[in-house]
Amino acid sequence: MHHFELKSGALHAEAVSLEALAQDVGTPAYVYSSATLTRHYAVLREAVDAHTAALGGPNGGEALIAYAVKANSNLSVLATLARLGCGADTVSEGEIRRALKAGVPASKIIFSGVGKTDAELGFAIDTGVRQINIESAAELDRLIAIAQDRGASPAIAIRVNPKIGAGGHAKITTGGEGDKFGVPVDEAMALYARASASPHVTPVGLACHIGSQITDLTPLEAAFRLLRSMTEELRAEGLSVERLDLGGGLGVPYVGADHASSIAASPAEYVAMAAGVLDGLNVEAAFEPGRLLAANAGILVSRVIQVTERADGRRFLVLDAAMNDLIRPAMYDAFHEVLPVRPRAGAPVAYDIVGPVCETGDTFARGRPMLPVEAGDLVIFAGAGAYGAVMASEYNSRPMVPEVLVDGERYAVIRPRPTLEEMLAREPMADWL
Ligand code: PLP
Repeated sequence: MHHFELKSGALHAEAVSLEALAQDVGTPAYVYSSATLTRHYAVLREAVDAHTAALGGPNGGEALIAYAVKANSNLSVLATLARLGCGADTVSEGEIRRALKAGVPASKIIFSGVGKTDAELGFAIDTGVRQINIESAAELDRLIAIAQDRGASPAIAIRVNPKIGAGGHAKITTGGEGDKFGVPVDEAMALYARASASPHVTPVGLACHIGSQITDLTPLEAAFRLLRSMTEELRAEGLSVERLDLGGGLGVPYVGADHASSIAASPAEYVAMAAGVLDGLNVEAAFEPGRLLAANAGILVSRVIQVTERADGRRFLVLDAAMNDLIRPAMYDAFHEVLPVRPRAGAPVAYDIVGPVCETGDTFARGRPMLPVEAGDLVIFAGAGAYGAVMASEYNSRPMVPEVLVDGERYAVIRPRPTLEEMLAREPMADWL
């Protein structure tokens, strides 16, 4: 469910005309809907709160929803979620600083990632984040040394590699045996015991994240069951396990005329499954959704530069958005529905939808049937709110794509497009040139 709809013959973001917005801000531009972000959070929060007995820890408290900042790290997006009480899952000092600046309290910030530097670990300790997720023995050793220097004992979880990979593409699968993430199960058990013996860290639980755009609950359930049995074993050894971080990964519908990603589960079904697995374990759960909250809360608006027709009948729809603005199709073969902002009458036409970047990979779709469009028309890429603007670059010296947040009738540019002069001014010339 989202708030990008046709009104008076043209697409709007909430109450804002995308035609008027594009006129003002220019294209390409990302546009996010506050109402959609809020709704997505509320749906998940409601689902989690329906299972406080199973997910809320020994005191039946609030299980944490820690938004995965990497999905869309714009400060206004984070602040929108922070005001609803959402926490943050972060993977760099930069992301921790973003979350703090957006109003997420340190007590709701989880620090994950396979390659945290010493400086970042020190910063996380000094900031007093809720928990540092440890991904290797070497990292634990470094953290212990850094914490000892500071006379601290930060809360940690051990991220487990469950040998269960899942997700919409090999490049977004993280829980498989050969993937770089997490500690293999046997090693994780030993590491937890070792950490428990150190006065310089405080192990509070286990963590797991097996992949992204997961459309079937089966692998997630298997991973959660593994976390449960590991918890029981660790407790049998006399060790304390209070929290389980269940990661993110639940898929979202990327739906179009020639494509419908099959979503096996709603957020409510997903949370109910987790509650069923953890029931009676008395742990406090944390969920780390990224895509689920942000993907369908954002679109990329683009203008048609031209339609190039070849003698063989092939039609290229050349847009002013390119792979540097939205890399998911080039990187993950990802599907995004492309829709005209003001649909024209006529039968659908098959287009190869491309951008202006000098790479054949700068192809968003091939032979995609859509309503006819003409040069100067506006189109949107649906479902572009997650892993879109965050991955944008200035490749081909195309200035960084701007971001806009809509809230009812108002909107704000929350990351401006630099002018070409500003883009060039960021590069000081070597003084010998
Ligand atoms: N948690 C961790 C540790 C991750 O690495 C990721 C994504 O890579 C997420 C959460 C969010 O995943 P998603 O956007 O699929 O919910």
